Amino acid sequence: MKAHEFQAKELLADRGATVPKGIVVDSAEAAVAAFDALGGTPVVLKAQIHAGGRGKGHFPGSGKEFGGVKYLTKREDIAPVATTMLSFPLVTKQTGEAGQKVSRLLVQQAADIQREIYLGMILDRATGMPVMMACAEGGVDIEEVAAHTPEKILKEPVSPELGLQPYQARKLAFAMGFTGNQVAEAEKIMHALSKLFLEKDANIVEINPLVVTPSGVVMALDAKIVFDDNALFRHPDIEALRDPTEEDPAELKAARSGLSFVSMNGNIGCLVNGAGLAMSTMDIIKYHGGEPANFLDVGGGASKDQVTEAFRILLADPKVEAVLVNIFGGIMKCDTIATAILAAFKEVGFHVPLVVRLEGTNVDAGKKLLADSGLDIVPATGMTEAADKVVAAARSRRKS
Ligand code: GDP
Ligand code: MG
Repeated sequence: MKAHEFQAKELLADRGATVPKGIVVDSAEAAVAAFDALGGTPVVLKAQIHAGGRGKGHFPGSGKEFGGVKYLTKREDIAPVATTMLSFPLVTKQTGEAGQKVSRLLVQQAADIQREIYLGMILDRATGMPVMMACAEGGVDIEEVAAHTPEKILKEPVSPELGLQPYQARKLAFAMGFTGNQVAEAEKIMHALSKLFLEKDANIVEINPLVVTPSGVVMALDAKIVFDDNALFRHPDIEALRDPTEEDPAELKAARSGLSFVSMNGNIGCLVNGAGLAMSTMDIIKYHGGEPANFLDVGGGASKDQVTEAFRILLADPKVEAVLVNIFGGIMKCDTIATAILAAFKEVGFHVPLVVRLEGTNVDAGKKLLADSGLDIVPATGMTEAADKVVAAARSRRKS
């Protein structure tokens, strides 16, 4: 789960990080009032969406040149810019072409910037530990630095039990070129970031940029967080930050039914049990020239109701032109899944071809149930035949 920038900054500030003053608003009038409340000094209007690259983004159709981060000095410019940001979807490198609707803006006291630094913490799968990363060349092009000069990114592994140690923060601060009072200021932000990451089971916390102002203040100008979904149950305060308008509605619906749904760009819907089988199903569909529209993992022991809900979600996806059910009956028996498929078929009503491959416990009983049903279900034996048949079925729909 992701959080908004303003939420991430609050969490960091609670742990001792310095952040600029800001007010969150949802209308142009409130943005002007926020400008006044902040003292009428220059502000930055920042579109709050769960995607990065806002500064270099754009609002297609608005006829305006700016992106989701706009520096403004004049009171009269606030309302028109805020109106544009709240009226058009914001497209960035991370949103896809359709962009993301902006419902809230952060009106933030603008900072003068002398230096931009990157500071982040991620879970490093290679070492199996959290790692703090810092780069003296922060700002909007950190991906370029990572791709071409990765040696400029310094890494410090952090013990999940002990947290970031003072000597580690000092080492990073010196390496980033901080001197005098700024060393302690930078360390404070690093400790806040590390505490937040560890306390709240984050996968990523990023401050980009961490800035130094000409008067020597060190602060977090932008912040992003991704929390570990599997740990959310023990952080109700974090769960409360969830913004459903930022999430894929189908994925959200699936999660509520205990199903895991991932949306993609092709035209074949996939219903599988288990993540490994999901991956190999995607692979074999692509190998046979098809493109998955999504996959829905019903897990090990799905109930009839869950399978019905799964079909509802799959078929509601307008991209889906054929469905492949690929189930390996282990704990889940094939006759149970066949019964659930038949019930779902009747209840949901299929408008696209359905190919079913069953294997495992009670497979014969399962296949017999499907064959005897008289419903228009295409049986398949083995992954290859299943993929072949579903790709052909999707193609024939394309032609007709
Ligand atoms: P992102 O594009 O989504 O990462 O949004 P950021 O909050 O990181 O803003 C993008 C860029 O806008 C930053 O790297 C800064 O260069 C610039 N920017 C953001 N806030 C301020 C500010 O208060 N003052 C100035 N001068 N520039 C800012
Ligand atoms: Mg940024």
